[in-house]
Amino acid sequence: MKLFKISVFVVTGLVTTIAMALILMALYSDHDLFSSFTTAQANRSIQGASNNAVNQPLSADQLPPVEQFASIAKKDRYQHKVAVLMYHDIDPVKQGGDIITPALFASQLDYLRSKDMNFISLEQFRLFMEGGKVPDNAVLVTFDDGYENFYTTAYPIMKQRHIPGVSFVITGDFSKGALVATPHMTKAEIQNMTRSDPNMEVQAHTDKLHYKTSDTTDALTAPLVKDGVTETHEHYLARIENDLRRCVEALRPLTPHVVNTFAYPYGLHTPEVEKVAQDVGIRYAFTTELGLATRDTDVMKIPRINGGSPLIDPERLYNSIMWENQLPGRNLFIPDSIQHSGREAGESEKSVSSK
Ligand SMILES: [Zn+2]
Repeated sequence: MKLFKISVFVVTGLVTTIAMALILMALYSDHDLFSSFTTAQANRSIQGASNNAVNQPLSADQLPPVEQFASIAKKDRYQHKVAVLMYHDIDPVKQGGDIITPALFASQLDYLRSKDMNFISLEQFRLFMEGGKVPDNAVLVTFDDGYENFYTTAYPIMKQRHIPGVSFVITGDFSKGALVATPHMTKAEIQNMTRSDPNMEVQAHTDKLHYKTSDTTDALTAPLVKDGVTETHEHYLARIENDLRRCVEALRPLTPHVVNTFAYPYGLHTPEVEKVAQDVGIRYAFTTELGLATRDTDVMKIPRINGGSPLIDPERLYNSIMWENQLPGRNLFIPDSIQHSGREAGESEKSVSSK
């Protein structure tokens, strides 16, 4: 009997050891596979992407193929995080840069939903950042620039699917003299939308500061130079504070929601801009940096994932979100040149209108 017990003990120990060895081997080989992707192919792809100038977006055949890396984005759920999607322009005819077709936008939304993604409202996002809960695989849809095609094209697609969202509006574009190439939502359209749909918000994107002043600055993030003279620091701070205040005040009568959320034009921001924005009541500010938002994210530097490029098919968008969940910062599905692509990089019409 004693011998029997000893042999059972030995056999059990042996089986456990073999099982553990097998698990370790499996983990190691997985790791090995993983690192071979990230070090070799990934570096090549990232290098390929960064060699392209921002104003010359990649063509579809220059992008890393989705299938090649899909196995990396294999974890299909995330919790206590929000993927904030970034869009700009939607048009059934025009294509390129950051203009996508209604069909692509709709197919992205439908694909994400088929993958158990849960679309949340900006209000749910705010509550989450304050410590509240969000569903697993939470996604927030955002559109920058307040184009009229948000109202005429994107909003109906979202409404039909009960998908909430937010449009960041350049309030200076309400004025008749604004020479913008793409028509802007009117106040009446905004009111019609926000009053009939509590899940659709408009928030701030400056009043008249949405124009570049150099490759790395815009009218919000740096002092202006006029006739060779740089404005004083005091004047600069007063100018941007007045502009942001005007923007928030122009939006207040147009929405039942609190106006306390901002998207930085071109994603550009500085500690000073963040402080001024907070001084006028901004509590949440979105960048164009790539990533998922968690409760630990700086509320004045909330990252987003660009969905608004004709090159981002539904599967690429989904894999990109899952990649950011697992390996933040080295996204192969949406290279930097696409994340920051589009009209905003070289939109001269807006420069004219906003001065
Ligand atoms: Zn913008």
